[in-house]
Amino acid sequence: ANIVAIVGRPNVGKSTFFNRLVEERKAIEDNVSGVTRDRHYGHATWGDRFFSVIDTGGYVTGSEDVFEAEIRKQVKLAIEEANVILFVVDCHDGLTDLDREFAQVLRSSKKPIYIVANKADTATQVLNAAEFYELGLGDNQVFPIAAISGSGTGDLLDEVIKHFPDPGVEDPDEGIPKIAILGRPNVGKSSFLNALLGKERAIVTDEAGTTRDAIHTRYKLYGKDFIITDTAGIRKKAKVKEDIEFYSVMRSLRTLEDSDVLIIVVDATRGFESQDMNLVTLGIKNNKGIIIMVNKWDLVEKDHKTMDRIKKEMIEKLGENKWIPIIFTSVETKQRIFQAIELAVKVFESKTHKVPTSKLNEKLLPEIEKYPPPAWKGKYVKIKYITQLPTKNPVFAFFCNLPQYIKEPYTRYLENRLRENFDFEGVPIKITYKKK
Ligand code: GDP
Repeated sequence: ANIVAIVGRPNVGKSTFFNRLVEERKAIEDNVSGVTRDRHYGHATWGDRFFSVIDTGGYVTGSEDVFEAEIRKQVKLAIEEANVILFVVDCHDGLTDLDREFAQVLRSSKKPIYIVANKADTATQVLNAAEFYELGLGDNQVFPIAAISGSGTGDLLDEVIKHFPDPGVEDPDEGIPKIAILGRPNVGKSSFLNALLGKERAIVTDEAGTTRDAIHTRYKLYGKDFIITDTAGIRKKAKVKEDIEFYSVMRSLRTLEDSDVLIIVVDATRGFESQDMNLVTLGIKNNKGIIIMVNKWDLVEKDHKTMDRIKKEMIEKLGENKWIPIIFTSVETKQRIFQAIELAVKVFESKTHKVPTSKLNEKLLPEIEKYPPPAWKGKYVKIKYITQLPTKNPVFAFFCNLPQYIKEPYTRYLENRLRENFDFEGVPIKITYKKK
């Protein structure tokens, strides 16, 4: 991947510079939705190159005594993840001791480093930027820029992209599951995220979506990459209670639309209620992968049969959607909370997996032969072959002589056989008939 890291002491203008670089890519500014949030990661483009930008600024707390540790943390992160390091300094302040400390740490890196002399707003300041050559870093190139106006950034980026032989990808998040955590109030959604991700929240990226209001935060935990989508940061001033409910429903809808897999959180002490079923229905309608997380399991009095019994009851309520997996968790005791994420990632993988046509026919044709579609008005329906269509969500086309004569119960039979032979746990699948 093409990754640029922005490092430097506080107040040199790292965030402004970051915003300048990712500017064109973030169509919707955060202030449109009233969201204020630290952004650590964004996508940028220059010439014919796509690259990601890490703003390490968010890692600095500003307190002097933790500064040494913070520098190391920032730089370590930058060295590990980035291909090119941009070390931002301030022309107004000139060279400071902290800059020197920073440079000292950076020297251990083998990655290309450019010195970005920010706030070079006037010709004099551009000239002053020369003093930073003293830092003697990397190829020792100093680029005077003004992050506010963008002047000077072009020359710098021309140099930077020389380190990217690969054009890069327009959307580095492609192929990473977007997970939404939904459910009624107080079921434990926020506690779940906090327990899972800890205080530090192993954030890899944190950015506003470009087409919607949902916020995508990318995480990596125990080797799994995933994105949590949520719109919780979007707060509208609601005057009356109906408004609050209206906006919270709208938020869930947006979050749902903008994700691949839903974790629908249910309170174990209250069971599966009609609103939960509404979410399931909505998820299926929108072709989302779904898992149900029965939380607060620690509060349930139980013996070794309780889980199976509750599971059975819930599956009954799910009716024909019994393919939705159910996981029992306690955010309080951290029981199975990472498994819930693992399950969601697995659902995403099944959802995006394409079954080879040969496998499909090999497994399903014998099942169809065993139990063919019932004849209709004396006409025999013959299914000849099956293929999975190249669609985003799983759709299976059954080619046959008389598609119009196949009825709902038989479709259900085929769906069940598909699910038995291939792993589509948590994934809505569609069946269509084509004339052959
Ligand atoms: P949200 O509205 O869905 O985000 O719910 P919260 O995360 O705010 O949780 C609501 C309440 O339930 C809080 O008091 C949590 O401490 C509590 N809670 C969440 N998960 C559990 C759990 O697994 N067990 C127990 N005993 N309490 C929980």
